[in-house]
Amino acid sequence: MPVSPILVLGTTNSGKRQELTALLEPFGIACQSLADFPAALAVAETGTTFAENAALKASQQALALGHWVLGEDSGLAVDALGGGPGVYSARFSGPEATDEANNTLLLEKLAGVPADQRTAHYACHAALADPEGTIRATASGRCCGRIADTAAGCGGFGYDPYFIVPEYHRTFGELAPAVKSLISHRGRAIRAMLPQIVRLLRDQPAS
Ligand code: IMP
Repeated sequence: MPVSPILVLGTTNSGKRQELTALLEPFGIACQSLADFPAALAVAETGTTFAENAALKASQQALALGHWVLGEDSGLAVDALGGGPGVYSARFSGPEATDEANNTLLLEKLAGVPADQRTAHYACHAALADPEGTIRATASGRCCGRIADTAAGCGGFGYDPYFIVPEYHRTFGELAPAVKSLISHRGRAIRAMLPQIVRLLRDQPAS
C-alpha cells in the first residue's frame, strides 16, 4: 500500500493541534507538529486577514522544512467590538497574552453590553502548502454564537468557556470535543478541504 508524505501542522497552539489531528488522522493523514521540527520558523503574522496569515504560515514553514504544511489562522470576531479581536485574538491582551488574560479583557470590554448584543463568530482559514511553499488548497469556516458573562466548562481552549453556541445552549467549553469538531469554524474549514488534502498527498511520494 502506498505511504503518503507527512503533513506538518503549522501551529504551536496545542488546542488547535489536537483538534486538527483528530480531524485528519482518521483519513490516513500522518500529522506531525512544529514541535517535531527544530528548524521550524516563528512566522510573523503580518497579514491583515485570517486568509493572509494562514497562507503565510503554510508557505513560509513549508519552504523552511521541505514538507507539506497546513497553515491555519483563526480567531473570534465580536460584533459589539467591531469584529475584534479578529486577527489579534491570540494577542488581544498584549504580546505575552494568556487565554485567561484575553478572556478577562474580553469581559471588561463587553461589560454592560446586554445578552442580545453579545453576538460573535469564530472564523478559521486554512491553507495547504507543498514543500516548495506553493499554496495548493484553501478553505474557510465559521461558527456563530454569543459571548457569555460567566465561564462555563473547561473543554477546548482560548475563548471557549465564554462562547455560547445557541443551538446547544452550551459553551464550547462544555461541549464534547467531537461535538465542537462537528460545528466549529475549524472543523468546517478542514472538512471542506479534506478531499483536496487527501488527493494531493496521495499523489505524492512518501517523505
Ligand atoms: P492564531 O494562532 O494566531 O490563529 O490565534 C488564534 C487565537 O484565536 C487563539 O489563540 C484563540 O485565542 C482564538 N481561537 C481560535 N480558535 C479558537 C477556538 O476554537 N477556541 C477558542 N479560541 C480560539
